[in-house]
Amino acid sequence: MRNLLEDSLIAKQITPTAMRLLVLEVLQQHAAALSQADVEQLLQPVDRITVHRTLKTFTDKGLVHRIEDGSGAAKYALCEPTCTPKQHQDLHVHFFCTSCRETSCLPTIAVPAITLPGAYRVQETSLVMKGQCPRCADSD
Ligand SMILES: [Zn+2]
Ligand SMILES: [Zn+2]
Repeated sequence: MRNLLEDSLIAKQITPTAMRLLVLEVLQQHAAALSQADVEQLLQPVDRITVHRTLKTFTDKGLVHRIEDGSGAAKYALCEPTCTPKQHQDLHVHFFCTSCRETSCLPTIAVPAITLPGAYRVQETSLVMKGQCPRCADSD
């Protein structure tokens, strides 16, 4: 297990440290995207600034991506192995469940290319759909 985690970090040119391995492990154990507060909660007791820095490093290196799902806190989810520091290859749709408030990646659903008029310069595009996830829709 530890070796696989270390390999995932090294593959993205991230030097393995105890904290980075812990944060990665927590992200791998959860199918849903996690906020910084979620990670802190799961790793308690932990230094908030270290968690913040770790998530930033992971994002910069293309190991995780940040999702603004409108819940107020950014969430983080693991990227595809093809993502690199400068280029996140996984521009997919995300789904925010209004019942369980979990945010999930829909890696097979690509964000459609949208062309804007005139002089708009787009930096990034994100698409978050809201509703009920399969688990919550089932329990109605
Ligand atoms: Zn749900
Ligand atoms: Zn995602």
